[in-house]
Amino acid sequence: MRPVIAAELVNGAFGDPVLYLDFRDAKRALLFDVGDVGALPPRKILRVTDLFVSHAHMDHFAGFDRMLRVCLGRGPRLRLYGPPGFLERLEHKLAAYTWNLVHRYPADFTLQALEVDPGWSARAARFRSGAGFAREPLPEAHCAGGVLLDEPAFRVRAAFLDHGIPCLGFAFEEKAHVNVWKNRLAEMGLAVGPWLRELKCAVAEGRPDDTPIRVRWHDRDGAHERRVALGELRLRALQIVPGQKLAFVTDVRGTAENAERIARLAADADLLFIEAVFLAADAAHAERKHHLTAAQAGCIARAARARNVVPFHFSPRYLGREDELRAELERARTDKPTHREMPVKDSMPQFGAPDPELKNSSIIDEVEYDAEAVTPGLETETPACYFNGEAFALGECVRSGSEVLQCAERGVWVRKGERRPG
Ligand SMILES: [Zn+2]
Ligand SMILES: [Zn+2]
Repeated sequence: MRPVIAAELVNGAFGDPVLYLDFRDAKRALLFDVGDVGALPPRKILRVTDLFVSHAHMDHFAGFDRMLRVCLGRGPRLRLYGPPGFLERLEHKLAAYTWNLVHRYPADFTLQALEVDPGWSARAARFRSGAGFAREPLPEAHCAGGVLLDEPAFRVRAAFLDHGIPCLGFAFEEKAHVNVWKNRLAEMGLAVGPWLRELKCAVAEGRPDDTPIRVRWHDRDGAHERRVALGELRLRALQIVPGQKLAFVTDVRGTAENAERIARLAADADLLFIEAVFLAADAAHAERKHHLTAAQAGCIARAARARNVVPFHFSPRYLGREDELRAELERARTDKPTHREMPVKDSMPQFGAPDPELKNSSIIDEVEYDAEAVTPGLETETPACYFNGEAFALGECVRSGSEVLQCAERGVWVRKGERRPG
């Protein structure tokens, strides 16, 4: 009943940029930028397998020391990715300490770093605690299309942006994933178990419907095994959900070229984290500091068609005035006045009845809606609701006939009453 992936801006909108992407089921996390990480407990730091650094300004890289401190002697490996000059910066950071005893630590903590250039050639190096963190060159790599990390479940892509210096923006793209309705499995006389992993792989690989799946589980009566066709499981107990896309963009100048590159990187993102450092009234200052205004961030988010936008990296000069930054971004994004308490848009998409041939999220009455307890059979959940195959973000409304439906947490439509067209 929890999202598979949870994204947390560790220091909120005003603090150092740090985005923690938690794969809760896998006890694993990705980190985007490593400013002050004092708010991250060691157990969360130890989960980080990959660290993506936009650029080495201090507010984005100073937390590396704390990570190293936590991981030393404990973590097996951390992979890092950064812009030109990154390997030298990392090497110098490591050279700032004395390492005469670390080779005795039981765990040989290894940093494996990749530094990309705008043609996507990547220099790579390794730094092991067992070797006193001396730099060991690794073979050069090529990150075609800016893809820094490609795994069966997701990929992370970068784009080169201009911040007066080269700065990387990142997009995390989950591949399609499979939700399992436990209650429907139970109706089929099956129980959950590790076999679900095999099933999910078979779906991800696009295996044909007649592929037999070995369903195995243990209970009080001992071990059970059945063979069920993939097609039957797909039809009766699975929901295939398109992957989520999340983008992280910070420290960029408000130029047309940056806007275009970001819009491409973050195209159709479910969630866009984007800096909105200054108000448009202070645009000259933003230009001098090579940062975006909230209005520029909003225009970029609109061009990217991002479904949800989280602005951050607010200048401390606006402490107590963050509503102004958010409102400016929203105005530029929607090009209309904002109604903070009213997420219902005037131009609510109008649908007829749900078409059974298309993907639709379940619809429930508002009185039935309990954010903690809806769709009890669904193993995982989606950050979106579907109506006739179209995805809508949390909080968005559609009209089905004269009924207004609002997308609520856990991807269900909640009936919000009636509204006559017009
Ligand atoms: Zn910054
Ligand atoms: Zn910067």
